[in-house]
Amino acid sequence: MAAPKKKPPYVVRPPTAVLTRGFDPRLSVGSARPAVFRSSTYVFSSPEAAERAFSIALGRSRPSDGENIDLIYSRLSHPNAEIVEDQVVPLERGAEEAAVFNSGMAAISTIFLTTCPPGSSFVYTTPVYGGTQHLIHQLLEPLGLRGVPVPAAASAELAHAIETTPNLKLAFLETPANPTLVMCDIAAAVRAAKRHAGTAPLVVVDNTFLGPIFQHPLALGADLCVYSATKYLAGHSDMLGGVVLGKDLELIASLRGMRAILGNILQPDECWLLNSRLPTVELRMTRQSKNAQRIVEALAGHPRIARLHYPALFSDPEQIRIRDAQCDFSGAVFAFELEGGKQAAFDFLRRLTIAKNAVSLGGVETLACHPATTTHSEMSPEELAGAGITDALVRISIGIEDRRDLLAEFQGALDAL
Ligand SMILES: *Cc1c(COP(=O)(O)O)cnc(C)c1O
Repeated sequence: MAAPKKKPPYVVRPPTAVLTRGFDPRLSVGSARPAVFRSSTYVFSSPEAAERAFSIALGRSRPSDGENIDLIYSRLSHPNAEIVEDQVVPLERGAEEAAVFNSGMAAISTIFLTTCPPGSSFVYTTPVYGGTQHLIHQLLEPLGLRGVPVPAAASAELAHAIETTPNLKLAFLETPANPTLVMCDIAAAVRAAKRHAGTAPLVVVDNTFLGPIFQHPLALGADLCVYSATKYLAGHSDMLGGVVLGKDLELIASLRGMRAILGNILQPDECWLLNSRLPTVELRMTRQSKNAQRIVEALAGHPRIARLHYPALFSDPEQIRIRDAQCDFSGAVFAFELEGGKQAAFDFLRRLTIAKNAVSLGGVETLACHPATTTHSEMSPEELAGAGITDALVRISIGIEDRRDLLAEFQGALDAL
């Protein structure tokens, strides 16, 4: 079971904290790693403890420091959720609290449904993850919310929209954006939100591509940082999950309240899996990113590659400025356009054997896909053109294989075109 929280939450460094925080072996019959608690309901220690637990769960009173509160029912929370929520916090610079969800989309939709009342507005950067785009067009806008899209690279336009959109509740940024890795300026968005006269909009960053190791939105002033934990946090392409981190305990508590209504908490087995993956996030992401950078540098200039998208190779001065200001490393996803259009892209994918032709990213195995006909196939021709997603574009997520094998495979597939 989760240990009662101590303040300050941790004094050791993140790689130590992630292995020592949030779990007390004495509460799991001495097991060195957490057990899985699959129970749907929990036995109260007394009727008074049950009354107290409900009073806190429903927001009628606040827990005192170090208070041990009885668990109630697993849709609200359960030991494995409490443990993983405590353990993920030290990985995110500036975070105080976390909430886990059963997918990245569950986390993102819960944020919108909690923070944007009917009639309010939100600003979002484009291109945005396909699931987020569906959420906006098929659920939020029909519910009467107003979404204001802004191209991620348009720094001045983004700041202006955040500062001036009436009744704005949320600025939702995705950076770098998928699949061309275009970046938007998190700190500038935070400054613009502070200048907004009236509704104190929150700044939320989808940090799936570079966080928690290479980009730190909360340290730059963002209110919430959201992840598809399916990607780097879990890292093995074998589970779905979502995590939201923030510094405002009330805000995270309100997300947990909405989570109990929607019933989208991460289940005990997945919490346990995610828990066991957190201590290796930094090792995996560092290896994957080094692999990717070496591979991209070796591929640059290949005659069949018309254009490469990777942060270390940015040429636009504004994109370089943003990258240097907010990213520690370029990450492990890149994309390139091939000479020869869709046919060349398909032929390239067909020749891969180590890398798998699959969507998703962030796993220990290398994956490659053709965004225009898969992940981004519902965008209009204008939207695709605006986002730079051509028929010739292939996206690759590099894993932890030996980079020389991957490079040989990519070079062979390119040479054969
Ligand atoms: C995958 C992904 C999501 C959605 O996460 P799921 O776990 O698939 O629901 C959201 N944002 C980004 C950037 C993603 O890559």
